[in-house]
Amino acid sequence: MASAKTSTSQRLENSEGAEESVRKARKTAIEMMKKAGFDIGPNVEVVVDPKLPFMGYTMPQGGNFTIVVSGGAVGSGLLEGLLVHEMSHVYRIQTNHSSHNGQILEEAIDNLGKKVVLRDYQQKIIHDLLNDIQDLYADDISFKVLRNSPIMASDQMTRFLQDWVKDEPAKSRDAVMDGWINASIMTHNARAIAQMARHRVEDTGGRAEQANKSFLSQISPRVAGRFEYFRNLLQNLREDMTA
Ligand SMILES: [Zn+2]
Repeated sequence: MASAKTSTSQRLENSEGAEESVRKARKTAIEMMKKAGFDIGPNVEVVVDPKLPFMGYTMPQGGNFTIVVSGGAVGSGLLEGLLVHEMSHVYRIQTNHSSHNGQILEEAIDNLGKKVVLRDYQQKIIHDLLNDIQDLYADDISFKVLRNSPIMASDQMTRFLQDWVKDEPAKSRDAVMDGWINASIMTHNARAIAQMARHRVEDTGGRAEQANKSFLSQISPRVAGRFEYFRNLLQNLREDMTA
């Protein structure tokens, strides 16, 4: 019983510690955003979902926002960086940027849905691709905010983006599914490499280029041939994109 009591009080202490570090990180991130010219105001709450299987997401509710972060993100050293990224989504929504206009995104998905019936994994891939574009526009802000901050040094930015680039294609017995997944990896790679160019982050040792080259050499030339199109598109998406 004694040990059970200890672990309960320890858990309580830990959750209080987590609360405190979330409170501090929220304050730091809001201040950094403001200092860089992206004032999002005070209506942003941060809550922890201990079981969330990915880093975090943002829920708009009227004029308020709730940022949900995973238990793993707290104490990972990445919490402030994650909050700045999520708050950049908040800024894009508050300023009504086309990339974060729900109606436009819905229309894009509807247009696809009417031509073909998509399976669940295919819908997820389309959703991820649209999310990539939103993240790209959020990161245009967050990289400006984080650049030269103690939170993310420039070599960390390099490693962060290099780590997004995958060199292994999908290989299952389902050729259609592999085609979709490889097209998805190809566009994710294009986004990482495009972001390096957008933020002038150096690809030290050419690691991202090499990994992507190796990936492209292993997939269907029809899909691989589209890489340059997506890299150019994502690299040159304009800040003042209209609806
Ligand atoms: Zn995001």
